[in-house]
Amino acid sequence: MEIKNYVRPNTLEDAYQTLLASDHNALLGGGVWMKYTNKKIDTMIDLSRLGLNHIVLHKDEIIIGAQTPLREIEIHPEIKGLGNGFLSLAVGSIVGVAFRNVATIGGSVVGKYPFSDLITPLLCLDVKLKFFPEEIIDLHDYLEQKHKHQAILTHIIIKKTKGHGYFKKVSNTSLDFSILNVACFYDQTFKIVVGSRPGKPIRATEVADMLNKSLPLSDDTLKKAGNMILKTIDFSSDERASKEYREILAKTYVMRGIKEVIKR
Ligand SMILES: Cc1cc2nc3c(=O)[nH]c(=O)nc-3n(C[C@H](O)[C@H](O)[C@H](O)COP(=O)(O)OP(=O)(O)OC[C@H]3O[C@@H](n4cnc5c(N)ncnc54)[C@H](O)[C@@H]3O)c2cc1C
Repeated sequence: MEIKNYVRPNTLEDAYQTLLASDHNALLGGGVWMKYTNKKIDTMIDLSRLGLNHIVLHKDEIIIGAQTPLREIEIHPEIKGLGNGFLSLAVGSIVGVAFRNVATIGGSVVGKYPFSDLITPLLCLDVKLKFFPEEIIDLHDYLEQKHKHQAILTHIIIKKTKGHGYFKKVSNTSLDFSILNVACFYDQTFKIVVGSRPGKPIRATEVADMLNKSLPLSDDTLKKAGNMILKTIDFSSDERASKEYREILAKTYVMRGIKEVIKR
């Protein structure tokens, strides 16, 4: 990574103005991904002095500052209690503890990484992103945006809910990117998300709708859900796995996830 200038602003306004000053300026979260991509940066804007490293609990919401390291999220008691710990499990599956002590939730969400083990379970929940300047946007809508968001993510807001969750990451080694990941959640209605297809995480809305109308679930409904996943979601091949292998994994783990969240 090549960086010409480095600044550590004390205010969001300063950080934002520096970001707008040039297309070659960039925000620094944990810096792990930036280093990996070997970018050339004019001014690197370190966000560490902006007071964005915290997890605040409100009555109905968990508010996570963008600079919070993944490890803090993984071990936080309230987050461990969400969906039987499915979010903690997902975050805990990302590389190793030392890595998760550095990588931030902000850098992990903003990057919209298709392999993300964090976004897949987050998409099962009601999650809003708060940006500076003032803007709050639903995570799903943010992921759908095609244009680059020239703003600073300050907080990730998770609505508390009492449902049951499931997360599965399939990778060649525990340190590798996902070949496929699946998250399911049930809180009176089903949410199913499949990621690393290798495309971005996507909600299996049609499958969830079918399940919601078919309670209590029979074995036939479960099989129908497994088949529908393959008809309604696209999978493809890359250097990690073939389309066919991903399809087998998706069908298997979606069916397992549905069973898991309903039986608790
Ligand atoms: C070798 C390697 C393996 C990985 N394996 C996995 C894996 O298995 N599963 C997985 O889910 N993830 C994986 N990741 C991704 C990782 O978990 C983080 O998501 C990633 O490192 C980004 O977090 P960061 O804090 O390092 O962000 P940075 O590198 O600091 O930033 C990433 C991008 O986000 C921007 N940014 C950072 N913070 C903000 C903000 N607050 N507002 C706006 N823009 C911002 C930066 O400008 C940059 O463009 C891996 C990354 C690496 C390098």
